[in-house]
Amino acid sequence: VTARRRPGEIAAGTTLIDTGMGGNSGITAVFLIKGERTCLVDAGAPAEAQRLIEQLDALHAFPPDVIVVTHPHWDHAQGIPALRREAERRGARIDVMALVEAVPLLADASFNDDYGAGQFASVSGVTPLREGDAVDLGGWSLRVLAVPGHCAGHLALLDERNGMLHLGDAPGYKTSDTAFLPPFMPPCWDTGAFLASMEKLRKCAFERLTLSHFGCISGPEAAGFFDEAVATFDAWWRWYAAHEGELADETALFDGLKRDVCPGLPDIGPVRAALGWLAVGYRQYEGRD
Ligand SMILES: [Zn+2]
Repeated sequence: VTARRRPGEIAAGTTLIDTGMGGNSGITAVFLIKGERTCLVDAGAPAEAQRLIEQLDALHAFPPDVIVVTHPHWDHAQGIPALRREAERRGARIDVMALVEAVPLLADASFNDDYGAGQFASVSGVTPLREGDAVDLGGWSLRVLAVPGHCAGHLALLDERNGMLHLGDAPGYKTSDTAFLPPFMPPCWDTGAFLASMEKLRKCAFERLTLSHFGCISGPEAAGFFDEAVATFDAWWRWYAAHEGELADETALFDGLKRDVCPGLPDIGPVRAALGWLAVGYRQYEGRD
């Protein structure tokens, strides 16, 4: 077994926290990295923010000094306002950082409208990061890589101490050994950028990978992971292209993809929702909407 999809310590000083999105475990993770300074990689969705504060309190890690947002999608960034409010209530301040291209997207409350119009907040006061920057955790640091494709302003973080590469959603969603969903989500999917990012990440010196959805991957599975991500994208994209007439029908999507592309697809609400959002991402990119 080369993938770990349970909460807890995944490397010295690095903890996988399951935010339990929508009441589902094993779907959405954030990662806590403890140096002299404490860094949280992503902040989860707004509905789980209170629970995340309690989980961080249990780890004696609230508030973190820094939140690095891998990209401006709601389930990574929209927990931030509640975390900031609670930190402020305790007389502390969280430094929120994101790729420079993500800063205006985080500030735009309508950026995530494809996932529920009018539900989201503007996140401002974000420190911009650039390719090659180091996020200082006191004596060591995390290296910033720009990896657009899934979303504009998407970054990955390389922890050179332990060869751990934090990927966010850049390669897609591998939620179990048998279910790998591709990353072509709205509102700014870019096929060329995705393929270039996978090529760039493949050349990185890493031993382990983390995915927001979901877990920590090592060994041969990590070595072949970016090839697997590109093959997954190809297979799913071809299916969406061949079934353009069925993309508005959630049941046809789930049944067809489970039958033709991904037999291990779990029948849970967030996965069914993701299949519909992929249809929106596909149609937008192909100029159908
Ligand atoms: Zn995303």
